[in-house]
Amino acid sequence: MNKKTILTGDRPTGKLHLGHYVGSLKNRVRLQDGYRCFFIIADLHTLTTKPSKEDIEKIADNSRDMVLDYLACGIDPSKSVVYLQSAVPEIFELNLYFENLITVPRLQRVPSLKDMAQNAGIEEMPLGLLGYPVLQAADILLPRAHLVPVGKDNESHVEVAREIAKRFNFLYGEVFNLPEVLVGDVPTLVGTDGKGKMSKSLGNVIYLGDDAKTVEKKVAGMYTDPKRISAEVAGTVEGNPVFEYHDVFNTNKAEVEDLKTRYRAGKVGDVEVKQKLALALNAFLDPLRERRDHFASQAGLVDEVIYDGTLAMRAEARATLTEVRKAMGMASVWNRIARKAEDVKKKREKAGS
Ligand code: ATP
Ligand code: MG
Repeated sequence: MNKKTILTGDRPTGKLHLGHYVGSLKNRVRLQDGYRCFFIIADLHTLTTKPSKEDIEKIADNSRDMVLDYLACGIDPSKSVVYLQSAVPEIFELNLYFENLITVPRLQRVPSLKDMAQNAGIEEMPLGLLGYPVLQAADILLPRAHLVPVGKDNESHVEVAREIAKRFNFLYGEVFNLPEVLVGDVPTLVGTDGKGKMSKSLGNVIYLGDDAKTVEKKVAGMYTDPKRISAEVAGTVEGNPVFEYHDVFNTNKAEVEDLKTRYRAGKVGDVEVKQKLALALNAFLDPLRERRDHFASQAGLVDEVIYDGTLAMRAEARATLTEVRKAMGMASVWNRIARKAEDVKKKREKAGS
């Protein structure tokens, strides 16, 4: 049976955190046996908010860190293709074709773009940032993906990719599958500050690569129920990020229920709740740490993973673009002119000889 295809990935803007894990990585690891998997290091997308030369200089090292995080989570390069977006030139071309299949007002309605601009301190929307979901559609459709495992903030982007695929198929013939979104069981993991999404740019993250002491420190400083000035005050569990993390990462469900009951009754201090959370998080992260150390000790391993994956993706991309150009009739524009010109040249040569 032919396997279906998955495409997803991340921008190489730094190390990956718990939000990336629950939003997308967990699904990737779970599904990598049943699907053909392509994981993109979306460095061209990084340019939409970080276009400076200093930012670009960081891409290579950030990509290495990110792929090490992938391997630590259990992504297996013998099963999944991990590749560098900017090294697959077909993406640029597909992006350009797609830009003509969607309108500016439609893109202006994509909710995440304004947040991204705001978080990056950008006042007026650059064309590239407005086109973020179009470029993402090119990523998704290049390997003709069926499924896109992402966090909640990316749901609206996959919708744009579906619309573009539909439009393309309608205008030129069936080339693309209509990709489906798959949001993780925690669609948006809250940040340690309790304010919103855990996000590198907001500095409210626990990294997958944080050591045990750092995790303890970050958890100790987490936002919790602000009206609890002492352990005797009845606390609120709902919407409390400390308990949200307990729910997601603490495998001892009886302990979590006990803490919740005592918290609501004013019978447990925040210190104990947080200490138990730090233990649970470290128990979750320990096997990742072991795997990371194992892979990090092999010099050049991540570079080779990215290199091999990119070559594999290039072959995939060439095949899709050949079909795209054929379906659109773009291939024959140049071919017709070239054939005629070559003909004329040949005749002239003959006449001259
Ligand atoms: P950050 O926002 O922390 O800077 P990012 O948004 O740059 O990270 P992306 O590359 O945009 O990271 O996202 C990679 C994937 O991880 C996407 O599928 C995104 O939805 C998911 N993701 C990122 N943060 C979270 C979160 N806090 N909860 C759930 N999913 C998340
Ligand atoms: Mg993001």
